[in-house]
Amino acid sequence: MAKKGQERCVLCGRTDAEVPYLISGLYGHICPECARLAADYVSEVEGKKQAASGRASKLGAIESAPRPKEIKAYLDQYVIGQDRAKVVLSVAVYNHYKRISNNLIGQKDDVELEKSNILLVGPTGTGKTLLAKSIARLLDVPFTIVDATVLTEAGYVGEDVESILTRLLQEADYDPAKAERGIVFIDEIDKIARKSDNPSITRDVSGEGVQQAMLKLLEGNVINVPPKGGRKHPEQEFVHINTQNILFICGGAFEGIERHIARRKNTRLIGFTAEEKQRVEHDNLLQFVDAQDLRSYGLIPEIVGRLPVVTYLDQLDRDSLKRILTEPKNALMRQYERLFAMDGIQLEVEPAVLDLIVDTALERKLGARGLRSIAEQIMNDAMFQAPSSKEKVFRLTAEFAKEKLAE
Ligand code: ADP
Repeated sequence: MAKKGQERCVLCGRTDAEVPYLISGLYGHICPECARLAADYVSEVEGKKQAASGRASKLGAIESAPRPKEIKAYLDQYVIGQDRAKVVLSVAVYNHYKRISNNLIGQKDDVELEKSNILLVGPTGTGKTLLAKSIARLLDVPFTIVDATVLTEAGYVGEDVESILTRLLQEADYDPAKAERGIVFIDEIDKIARKSDNPSITRDVSGEGVQQAMLKLLEGNVINVPPKGGRKHPEQEFVHINTQNILFICGGAFEGIERHIARRKNTRLIGFTAEEKQRVEHDNLLQFVDAQDLRSYGLIPEIVGRLPVVTYLDQLDRDSLKRILTEPKNALMRQYERLFAMDGIQLEVEPAVLDLIVDTALERKLGARGLRSIAEQIMNDAMFQAPSSKEKVFRLTAEFAKEKLAE
C-alpha cells in the first residue's frame, strides 16, 4: 500500500493524509467532502428541474387553458381586423398548452406533439407586435420583443442570439423556470434572410450565421445564458435555459415576397397598372404565403421548418384605421379622453377629425403606426391650454386639427 500523503483528491487537491479517506476511481481519487458537495449540487439541480416542471404543469394544465374562441375574443378587444391571423394564433397558442400538457403527462403511445412556433407575415404597422403582446398579456407569462436586425453571429459586432434569452430572463425576474414558458417575439426576421453577397467582414450581414444561431433557440435546446448580457461581463456564471417550451412568434414584412408567391403560383402580374398590381399583390397573394416562398426569400430551410405556423396580416384600409382610433380597449382617442377627464374636462371630438387623422396617416404611408404622432401633433396644444382654462368641455374641431397639422 502506498505511503500516506501521496494520493490526492482530484477536485480539492488535498492528500490522503489531510482527509479521512479517498474514494478511488479509474482515473483518480475524490475525498468525501468533495463527494458530498457534488451530491448536494446534483440534488439542487434536479430539484430545480422538478420545480420547473411543476410550474410548467400549471401552464400545461389544459383544463385551465383559454379555448381558441376565448383567445380570439380577447384579441378582438385590442386588435382590429386581422381575423385570419387571430384564428391561427389562437389555435397555435391553445396547441402550445396541449403540447406542454401532453408531454408532461407522458402519454403511453409516445406521440410527442411538436412545437408550434409562429410566423406572422405582413406589412409594417399592421398589428404583428400588438398581437404578440396581447397574447402574452392574456397568458400572463414573461414576454420580450427583440429586433432580429441587431442580432449577429457570435464574434461579430452586434448582439449574440443568446441575448434574447437574457432579456426574457430579466422579464421573468431571473427565474429560469418562469422564463422557460415565456413568449419571445422576434421582429423583422425577414431582415436576416440570406442574401447572395456579403460585403462586410465586421457584421454578419448575410444573415445565414444568425439564422443558424437562432435555430438553436427555436429547436428547443438547453442554452447557456449570460444573465447580465453578453460580452461586458465575462466573469458571470451562465444560467441554463431550456427553450423547449418557449413560444417563439416571429414577425416580418417580407417586402416583395408576393413576387415569390406569384412565381410559385404561376400568376402573371403583367397588364395591371402599378396601383392595381399593388392591390392584387397585397390583397390576394399574401394569403397564400407558404414555406416554399419563405425559403426562396432567403430563410434557411431549417428555420422555416421550425416555424410551422405561418399566417399573414392584411394592409390596414381606411375603415380599419378609423376603427383603430376609437374601438380597441386602449384606443388612442380613449386615452386622450382619459387624459382630459383627469383635469375634469370632457373631450368632444368632431367625427371629421378622425377622418383627417386617417387621411394624413394614409398620405404619409405610415399605417397605424403613424396615427399616434399625427394625433399628438393635433392634441399637443390643446393639452397645453386646456388644464389652465375654466371650460369644462373641450371641443376638438376639424378646423382646429387642420390648423395644427399645417403648423
Ligand atoms: P407591426 O409589428 O406589424 O409593425 P405594431 O403591432 O407594432 O405593428 O403596430 C404599431 C401600432 O399601431 C400599435 O401599437 C397599435 O397602436 C397600432 N396598430 C397596428 N395594427 C393594429 C390593429 N390591427 N389594431 C389595432 N391597433 C393596431
